[in-house]
Parts: sequence; structure tokens; C-alpha cells
Amino acid sequence: MEEKRKCLIIGSGPAGYTAGIYTSRAGLSPLLIEGMTPGGQLTITTEVENFPGYPKGMSGPNIMDDIREQALHCGTEIRSGLVTEVDFSQRPFRCTVDDADVIYADTVIIATGATARWLEIEGEKTYRGFGVSACATCDGNFFRNKDVAVIGGGDTALEEATYLAKLCKKVYLVHRRDEFRASKAMQNRVFNTPNIEIVWNGLPKEIVGEKRGFAKAVTGLTITDKLSGEDRTLNIDGVFVAIGHKPVTDLFAGQIDLDAQGYIITKPDSTATNVAGVFAAGDVQDPHFRQAITAAASGCKAALEAERYLIANE
Ligand code: NDP
Repeated sequence: MEEKRKCLIIGSGPAGYTAGIYTSRAGLSPLLIEGMTPGGQLTITTEVENFPGYPKGMSGPNIMDDIREQALHCGTEIRSGLVTEVDFSQRPFRCTVDDADVIYADTVIIATGATARWLEIEGEKTYRGFGVSACATCDGNFFRNKDVAVIGGGDTALEEATYLAKLCKKVYLVHRRDEFRASKAMQNRVFNTPNIEIVWNGLPKEIVGEKRGFAKAVTGLTITDKLSGEDRTLNIDGVFVAIGHKPVTDLFAGQIDLDAQGYIITKPDSTATNVAGVFAAGDVQDPHFRQAITAAASGCKAALEAERYLIANE
């Protein structure tokens, strides 16, 4: 199938849906392709207290359902699927969905977000899905009344640790330094949770486990104490890796300018990329703030810039 659009939005987090709301209202009849994780990273978080409009807080998935519904209500066409190829060298731009359908678009808003980073230590790949996870809300339930470790010192790690502390017997929060970068509010929550034990200066070295019948399971995490250089193994059943995210930009390498970490480079005070007519919004171009609200705001900016671009190039 082939079709032509004024505006194609790739990605469905706060940035993508907000771009949908604004481009719909501007009469651009946008098509939004949702990608692998419809709703984006907020769909795998728990309670969100800092998104305006929810005075008592709200679950991440519910917020994303609301923004999606608003985008639909405004007229965004939302389609499930994965953009598998883009060609920004021709105009209109050519984008392929699920290796099959071709969409030609005058403007493209990239809002593909970011994905979890992994430790890249021994045992991590072997036990991924068998005790190693990057999502406490998805997998925490499997570790009821067990002992687990969470790795990281940012808001995600501390949020995951407090979430898991409600389910698990004990949570080791392993951080490579001696202070957290997470917000003070999150830190206070962790300090006040009795079954969280903080392991400062802990460098994860290896995830160990064993075969259990046809399956396998994690039995421990070996960490090196950064100060003494000594190793010790925590006896745990699960490891939750929460060490940040990387932008989802493999698809665009060679097509638009990326920085050394893979983030899309946008012009100062703009969502414009080096290709006129291609805009980037949200975490895919933001190594600094990475908040749902800043992503939504940049989705709005991208939509306004796409609209202006179309008017200027009519
Ligand atoms: P961050 O980048 O903030 O934190 C990553 C953490 O992982 C850091 O503590 C870092 O250590 C550690 N780390 C990185 N690489 C390694 C490694 N190889 N081995 C061991 N540890 C490592 O990521 P987050 O996902 O926590 O947060 C991203 C953004 O989202 C932030 O802006 C955060 O504020 C926001 N956020 C907000 C929430 C909320 O407000 N409710 C909830 C979740 C996230 P070091 O500190 O030494 O660099």
C-alpha cells in the first residue's frame, strides 16, 4: 500500500501524541505510527506526580491513555506498526512501515524516544527474562517475597526500588557512587523504606544463576566495592537494571545528524534537524531534561514548526 501525507509522526510517547494534537488542530491530518511500545516509556512507570493536570498523581499508562485519546479526539490517525526504513534524500520523504507499506510525507516528526540501557556485564544477557529485567512494574510481581537488586542512582532506580520494596522481602539498591542523582523527594522515600538496603560504591560485575529444569534463574549479583576493590555476591533472585536510556535512532543513522551518543541534533531553540522538513521531538533529541512534560512541549514545538514549514513551502 502507498499513501501520501502532509505530516507523518513516528513514535507515540508524550512528544508524538502532542505533535498529533497540534498538527491535527492545524489541519495537517497527521498519521502517527505508534512503534514497538505504544505510549512510550511512561507506560512502564508507576505513579507520576509531576505531570501537570493530575493534582493527586496518576499512573503512567493512564496518562498516556488520556493523551492518546486527546490526539484521536483532535483528529490524529493513529496506526500500530513500526517504521522500518526512511529515505530523507527524496521529497516527499519516503517511509516504510513494517517493511511493507510506503508513506510519502511532506514533513516528518521523529518522536521515537529512548530505550533502557544495559550493564553489559557477564550473565546479564544469559538471564534477561529469567531474573534480569529493566522494568519493575512489568516483572516485579514475579519476585513477591523474594530478594532483588536494583542498579542505578537516578529517579528511575529509586522509583523501581520503592515499588519493589512493597512486593519483595528485601531490595538492595546498588549504586556506583556514594550519592544519588535522583530528586530529594525520591531519596527521602528510599531512606524511609526499611527493606531497602543501599549499597554505595558498588560496581556490578557479574550476574550469576543456575539451570532449573528447562528454565534458568538468577541466584546472585557479584559486585566490586569501588573503594576496597573487594568482590562480594548478594544472594538475590532478580536484578532490575535502571541505569538510564539511549535514544532510539538506529533507523536514522546516515540520514540525519546524530551526536556521539546517538541523539538527534536539533537546531538551537528549535526541533528542526539538518534535513529541512524533518523535525525531532522528545527524548530522542534531549539528553538533558527527559521529562514527560518537556517531551510533550517539544512535540508541540515540532508541530508548530512543521506547520510553518509547510506554509513556507506551499
Ligand atoms: P539517569 O541518567 O538519571 O540515571 C542513571 C543512573 O544509572 C545514574 O545514577 C548512573 O550513575 C547510573 N549508571 C549509568 N551507567 C551505569 C553503569 N554502567 N553501571 C552502573 N550504574 C550506571 O537515568 P534515569 O532513568 O534514572 O532518569 C532519566 C530521567 O528521567 C531523569 O531526568 C530523571 O529525573 C527522569 N525521571 C523522572 C521520574 C519522576 O520524576 N517521577 C521517574 C524516572 C525518571 P551516576 O549517577 O554515577 O552517573
